[in-house]
Amino acid sequence: MNQAAQTITDKGEPRIWGAFINGEFTGAASGKTFPTFDPGNGEVLAFLAECDEEDVDAAVRAGLAAFPEWRRKTGAARGKLLMKLAQLVSENAAKLAELESLNAGKPIRDSKAIDAVTAVDALEYFAGMATKIQGDTIPVPGPYINMTLREPLGVIGGIIPWNFPLLQAIWKIAPAIAAGNTVVIKPAEQACLSVIYLGELIQQAGFPAGVVNIVTGYGATAGLALVQHHMVAKIMFTGSTETGKRIAAEAAQTLKPVGLELGGKSAVIVYEDAPIGHAASVAANAIFSNQGQVCTAGSRLFVHENIHDQVLQKIVERAGKVKLGYQMDPETTMGPLISRKQKDRVESYIEYGKANAKLVYSHSLPDGLEDGFFVGPHIFDEVENSMQVAREEIFGPVLSVLTFSDESEVLALANDNPYGLAASVITRDIGRAMRAAQAFEAGNVWVNTWGAVSSMAPYGGYKNSGYGREMGFAVMREVTQEKNVWVSVR
Ligand code: ADP
Repeated sequence: MNQAAQTITDKGEPRIWGAFINGEFTGAASGKTFPTFDPGNGEVLAFLAECDEEDVDAAVRAGLAAFPEWRRKTGAARGKLLMKLAQLVSENAAKLAELESLNAGKPIRDSKAIDAVTAVDALEYFAGMATKIQGDTIPVPGPYINMTLREPLGVIGGIIPWNFPLLQAIWKIAPAIAAGNTVVIKPAEQACLSVIYLGELIQQAGFPAGVVNIVTGYGATAGLALVQHHMVAKIMFTGSTETGKRIAAEAAQTLKPVGLELGGKSAVIVYEDAPIGHAASVAANAIFSNQGQVCTAGSRLFVHENIHDQVLQKIVERAGKVKLGYQMDPETTMGPLISRKQKDRVESYIEYGKANAKLVYSHSLPDGLEDGFFVGPHIFDEVENSMQVAREEIFGPVLSVLTFSDESEVLALANDNPYGLAASVITRDIGRAMRAAQAFEAGNVWVNTWGAVSSMAPYGGYKNSGYGREMGFAVMREVTQEKNVWVSVR
């Protein structure tokens, strides 16, 4: 069944997309499939192989069989294949962006400008990294030379969410295979199409069979089977904190290390000297990008009391300019949420906000979007840091605004949350900015901006936002293990 990446925008019958195991596209051993939807209209886009334990086992064994030869290749050889993949992703960027938007609901202008471009950049960066993995020599006392060897782990299981499927897949696959590991990726059941299409490009690039495998299916079956598999050396997970905890507990049974990139409830602090327009633009971008379905979303906005009214007014103006619409329309700046479940969840937080805080903006739903999972921007003022809308991750375009007067008070409030993924500060005072950067209990800090990420810069969480790092040299330590070698020179 080599019918994975078919055109599905020709409005033909929804097609069945296979899993990618040992270099081939294949149905689930059980023959089962499950539907995947267009969140903009609720229609079925395609059916996917519903992989379970048996398929995951086949994928892991394919990864294990490919591992010895793959790790023995030179870094340059692995890097060349990654460069070839980068080129294919670049050539097929329009198709990947289309699939990403159709299936994940993100505005097509963002998929084209952000996701597809960042995907190529990450592949190129990790292609270069393949030749830069090296150990140390350590000047131990005595007649010895002591050195460390950086070695791949084996088969790495990557479990990814639905908010940035293509990028998440590449952020897991590229560093792992650059270092000589092989990979089994389990995309989120809600949005797999771009990831399966990436599998087709991996096949075209000429990677040996089994180096990258993609198993589609549900978390509780395919995901769990990957975590439990005794031949999987490590799990790299991005998703909710709740699922991350479950995975860490399960992985303990086979003493598997895990990397966890989890949820967030990030603070954006606007001091009284901040340029009002810029502050409002950063704050709006921080909560409305990708419909608020971003782990680092700036969902708690702390505004100094002296400029509260002006900043809030400008954010409300920006919210009013959001073009909520079908994601494939190039004018759309905010698409649907991923699913009905997510829409219901976000709406329940909005109801809570209405009852407990002051609703200052609620975007009305344009006609014709009734069948999609749309929720427009919502802004609540007079929020207290103890309220549910300030403590819990909503994963939607819902902003909680809190007012402060004192620097130490606001830094304490920003940190008074179980999560620690990211934080922003907006001020012209460099001392104040750096005091915030030092004080934030968060893995990623932005000064006078929000949301910047790069393949080159380590990314990850503090506290309940997880542990382990992606990107940069930091992730290369996560996907390798260190061996220490003593050589007697006597
Ligand atoms: P959400 O609640 O937003 O769907 P999750 O964190 O549950 O986010 O999902 C992220 C990824 O984790 C998805 O690929 C999902 O299928 C997978 N997943 C969910 N539950 C489990 C589990 N028990 N074991 C392994 N993977 C899981």
